[in-house]
Amino acid sequence: MSLFVQKYGGTSVGSIERIEAVADKVAAFRAQGHGMVVVLSAMSGETNRLIDLAYQIQEKPDPRELDVLVSTGEQVTIALLSMALKKRGYDACSYTGGQVKILTDNAHTKARIQSIDVERMRVDLDDGKVIVVAGFQGVDDDGNITTLGRGGSDTTGVALAAALDATECQIYTDVDGVYTTDPRVVDSARRLDRITFEEMLEMASLGSKVLQIRAVEFAGKYKVPLRVLSTFEEGNGTLISLDEEDNDMEQPVVSGIAFNRDEAKLTIRGVPDTPGVACRILAPVGGDNIEVDVIVQNISAVDGTTDFTFTVHRNDLSKAREVLERASAELGAREVITDDKIAKVSIVGVGMRSHANVASRMFNALGEDNINIQMITTSEIKISVIIDERYLELAVRALHSEFELSEKER
Ligand code: ASP
Ligand code: MG
Repeated sequence: MSLFVQKYGGTSVGSIERIEAVADKVAAFRAQGHGMVVVLSAMSGETNRLIDLAYQIQEKPDPRELDVLVSTGEQVTIALLSMALKKRGYDACSYTGGQVKILTDNAHTKARIQSIDVERMRVDLDDGKVIVVAGFQGVDDDGNITTLGRGGSDTTGVALAAALDATECQIYTDVDGVYTTDPRVVDSARRLDRITFEEMLEMASLGSKVLQIRAVEFAGKYKVPLRVLSTFEEGNGTLISLDEEDNDMEQPVVSGIAFNRDEAKLTIRGVPDTPGVACRILAPVGGDNIEVDVIVQNISAVDGTTDFTFTVHRNDLSKAREVLERASAELGAREVITDDKIAKVSIVGVGMRSHANVASRMFNALGEDNINIQMITTSEIKISVIIDERYLELAVRALHSEFELSEKER
């Protein structure tokens, strides 16, 4: 008998009708004899509504109380789904995170799971009960309610699947899987049947928003097979797995194209090219809690100076600029220039490890469309370029076609 952990997102439980539909789905699995653990989000919009209420009272809501407040959204949906299952003649029982118990640290609003007590769930499963757990929440050592950060129900689902050694963790959502790229940009973007954890992690951190990044990290670490699929349409979705091990199929070179419009670029020109200068520029930026992404340093000019360029999140640009202006004055640099009209486009694929020329194919495709590359960064399984934001969609389409992502079966 298989054990499935199924997580349903906010739109999937956004109304009574939809909760009844989820109950039908869960009941059908249970009727086939599978053990079932269901993790739910709050009804769509509910978490935002609750957060908004808090801000109407306090400019900076108290984190502990905020967790008490926002965790209520999930408590509503789990109770309703259990009722719907009972109405259908299935034994079901809802639990809050604290009841399970999902023990976390005490970092309110962004807590991390430390352990999960599976005893009670095992007994219920043996009794044939469907277990319905509130996503996104846990409890700390002192019994305080905690939450796991926005989108945290994905992580609850994966963590429960890991703790129970489930057959598969299925994330039901409003899209039917992970795509080669955003279908709003490329019509012919294709749903992937499979993708590896590593690739999914890159896609997620590069801007593809199907899954919470932490959920993917967790699934990779504990080797939980993870499937993303649609609540509303039939289909197998996308399986995120270790893949490479048991796969004798030829890997495609590139699996997907990710992009991100949230970055801005800063350049400091004419800094003395001496040991320690990179640190003197970047340490104060990092010290201000600004995350730096792509970094490029030019070779030294004849006058012994160099230029240094890096990117940060757009929201951090003005703060980063201030810090850099200060560093510039101290170092006697020539000037600081910033640009927030940039975008990052990345190709991702474990197949890159075994294929040469991937980078040159990428650069050539962009060159043919007259798209200038401003910066480049690579890892074993991805290449990212920074380009003018105006050409973002053109670039994504050019690369999607260069690597034949519309056609390939995987
Ligand atoms: N309800 C929470 C949120 O909206 C958690 C989740 O849905 O995953 O962020
Ligand atoms: Mg979500």
